[in-house]
Amino acid sequence: MATASGVFHKVMIQSAALKLTMFYLMVIMALSIGFSVAIYRISSRDVAHTFPTDRTMANIFGPTDFNFDELRQQQDQQSENDLRNNLLILNAATLLVGAAVSYGLALQTLQPLEESMKAQGRFIADASHELRTPLTAMRTTIEVGLRDPKLTLPKAKILLGSTLDEVKKLSALSNGLLQLARDNGKDIPKEPVSLKAITKGALSPLELAAHNKSITLKNEVGDLSVLGDATSLQQIVGIFVDNAIKYGNEKMTVTLKSRTSGKYAFLSVSDEGPGIKASDLPYIFDRFYRADTSRTRGETEGYGLGLSIAQAIAQAHGGSVDVKSALGRGSTFTVKLPLAPGLSASP
Ligand code: ADP
Repeated sequence: MATASGVFHKVMIQSAALKLTMFYLMVIMALSIGFSVAIYRISSRDVAHTFPTDRTMANIFGPTDFNFDELRQQQDQQSENDLRNNLLILNAATLLVGAAVSYGLALQTLQPLEESMKAQGRFIADASHELRTPLTAMRTTIEVGLRDPKLTLPKAKILLGSTLDEVKKLSALSNGLLQLARDNGKDIPKEPVSLKAITKGALSPLELAAHNKSITLKNEVGDLSVLGDATSLQQIVGIFVDNAIKYGNEKMTVTLKSRTSGKYAFLSVSDEGPGIKASDLPYIFDRFYRADTSRTRGETEGYGLGLSIAQAIAQAHGGSVDVKSALGRGSTFTVKLPLAPGLSASP
């Protein structure tokens, strides 16, 4: 279904495409007409020198009645007319072909812009949809409290507590959205950073959560340096490990490993948790996507933004993220990052 903003974007792109077409066509026609004028001038001068004059012919063949000058002028005129007609036809053809080519080029030039406008529209629609849920819950809670004539202090505290929970969710959601908007901007500062330091920094705030589920965190990451921003890279590892703990089984082990291939380092986080359904796998890096199992949807908090943030950060570093998982057999999330030039060692 075409939305109002979709139609607005289409109209904007079409009007920009027409303006760009006119601009391209003006450049093409200016060149074509310029060359035609130059060719016309040079050719008419050359034609004028092609035919011998009466005096030259008289010198060669002796006196004759034949008027070579008149013939020369007729031939000159004829050649000039032919040349002018040919150039006019050529310019008319350039105008037609140029208009079609310019329109094609304009559409091609504007395609990335159109895609980014569509993506922005989808992002805003998704975000508003997600914001609506906690806002509605808060509104209902507050309205119930206000309408209750016998509202006691303990009851009011319960209502305030549940409103505070929703406020916390809202602030987590808005932080996630802000982060996505920033990382999609790709202006992350990059310098050589140690993968070991990144993983250590990411694991320490998660140790308590792991301990609460008797989960062992095993860090086997090698001595590697990658090119990136330490805080953002720590966040990717944090998202992978946090998910492993959140969705994982009690008493399992989460293992962090690294390897290199070509100019890239690969850091993986493997868990022995429930795994992800094959039908969910292609979508888990999409914004707001949460695999629809009772474990993930009902009991665990989240907005389906973590993995899309990890992906945005990896891409802003010139890398990527990947997952291998099978239901009941755990998951392995991997991030691929460019090695720091000249500083990498073997894992
Ligand atoms: P969130 O955790 O907030 O739901 P994410 O983007 O981090 O959002 O994850 C998207 C979905 O991928 C999760 O809802 C969950 O269903 C699935 N998922 C991510 N990591 C794991 C994991 N280690 N084990 C099982 N499922 C996972």
